[in-house]
Amino acid sequence: MNSSGKIKTADANFDNLLRIFTVPEGQNSTLTKIEEELSRNLNEFLRNHIVTEERPLKDIEQDFLSSHIPDQPEFVSDHTQHLLDTVVSQSVHTSSPGFIGHMTSALPYFLMPLSKLMIALNQNLVKIETSKVFTPLERQVLGMLHRLVYHEEDHFYSQYMHSAHHSLGAFCSGGTIANLTALWVARNNVLKADGHFKGVEQEGLFRAMKHYGYEGLAILVSERGHYSLKKAADLLGIGQEGLISVPTDQNNRIKPDALKATISRLKQHNIKPFAIIGVAGTTETGNVDPLDDIAEICRQEDCHFHVDAAWGGAVLMSKQHQHLLKGIEKADSVTIDAHKQLYLPMGAGMVLFKNAGATQAIEHHAQYILREGSKDLGCRTLEGSRSGMAFLLYACMHIISRAGYGLLIDESIAKAKYFAELIQSQPDFELITEPELCILTYRYIPEPVRQALKDATEEKRQELNQTLNELTKYIQKKQRESGKSFVSRTQLNPGQLDGMDTIVFRVVLANPLTSKEILHDVLEEQRQIASLATSLLKELSG
Ligand SMILES: *Cc1c(COP(=O)(O)O)cnc(C)c1O
Repeated sequence: MNSSGKIKTADANFDNLLRIFTVPEGQNSTLTKIEEELSRNLNEFLRNHIVTEERPLKDIEQDFLSSHIPDQPEFVSDHTQHLLDTVVSQSVHTSSPGFIGHMTSALPYFLMPLSKLMIALNQNLVKIETSKVFTPLERQVLGMLHRLVYHEEDHFYSQYMHSAHHSLGAFCSGGTIANLTALWVARNNVLKADGHFKGVEQEGLFRAMKHYGYEGLAILVSERGHYSLKKAADLLGIGQEGLISVPTDQNNRIKPDALKATISRLKQHNIKPFAIIGVAGTTETGNVDPLDDIAEICRQEDCHFHVDAAWGGAVLMSKQHQHLLKGIEKADSVTIDAHKQLYLPMGAGMVLFKNAGATQAIEHHAQYILREGSKDLGCRTLEGSRSGMAFLLYACMHIISRAGYGLLIDESIAKAKYFAELIQSQPDFELITEPELCILTYRYIPEPVRQALKDATEEKRQELNQTLNELTKYIQKKQRESGKSFVSRTQLNPGQLDGMDTIVFRVVLANPLTSKEILHDVLEEQRQIASLATSLLKELSG
């Protein structure tokens, strides 16, 4: 804005427009300076430009009220300043080492210039014509991840990795699409063409159900399953009620007996369970389902076995910890997000299929592109146009390598164990779920309340727990608002608390820059915030 407070506008003539396609920004322009700062010290740039104190969202919305498309062009430098002031400043510092509440963490430096290169190349992976080398590159990356999960022999990969009639998986924007793709394949297989019936993909669900004589279809997952599965059940016509949640044990893992009982019950009602999902790293607690047991049940029931390893799949990179995902190699399909523990920027998910021919169940062809027999990736992916994200994963696989990723995973898990011990050694904190991978949950509980909770009557226990929930919420919110550190919160029903609804802090320790000192500080800050919650504390001691 200029001194009169009005936005300076440029002339909307074609010559000026051509300039934005051909002439780079000048040496002293705001944009050039940003680029320099970003490459010199990314963390400093983010620290300097992202405001720590929280502004209420209602306030922020005031900057985004107009629904008019600007009539006249603005100068790039002016607008860049506007972006710094209104957007960058109010964004979330996801890579801050004190922000240990979500699955999004720091990115390696080399990905910034490489992302710029990827965008400059602007390949479209939907078809060879607009991607050329990116297609074999993406197929190779999928092959690498496939091998990490399934350990097939060399000849398997030389036969299928680049085969026009096969795919080892699909690259997509994230775990949601990956899960949907896996279940799409499973649904089309259970309702495949048979006699006069041309398959659900041709005739639709109604005729498919009539043909096969089912009253309904079901997908089974533990009660800790990710909400993306509900969306998939909805879109695939199964209905959200067709996603059946199965009880978990003390450690948030599916109970195989309960799974079997649920299957029997469904079959009695002529409902066909066609897919069972094992979670390898639940979003809330990071626990891994007993994958071998689920695999065996799937084999007996002739069900599609899908493993949702969106978050935890990267643990296979660690030679020390890969055993935690034992049984994953028996899955028909596996979801892995590269934008979680593989440290890629947002928008990189994958689904892998054990059987290289599995995606034939969802193959689509069109005359002008995606011709039959072509190597176009778009004929076996849900998404159409897609960016060359695989390029960044390809680079990470080489620059970080298996050894580097292994170290990152080992370090995260060790840090989570350290933090768990630290919490357990405090008189006024309570560990709720132990870290199996690098997620843990805990809460603040004043020392006297801890004893009182043990001795209290059932009614009193409920009451105390309710107040502790309020306290946890209060601390989490205040800590976020202060902007120094961030943990998330969720609600669990822990066995050790007799299944009472319990609100907990949730911590994900994936950022390699998070130090032990920061973990100590997080607890100290929470303790201090708690001491300010005088009325809640009074209620607890009353
Ligand atoms: C994150 C996550 C998803 C969803 O992935 P998006 O990339 O957010 O679409 C699905 N399942 C699990 C277990 C996850 O952690």
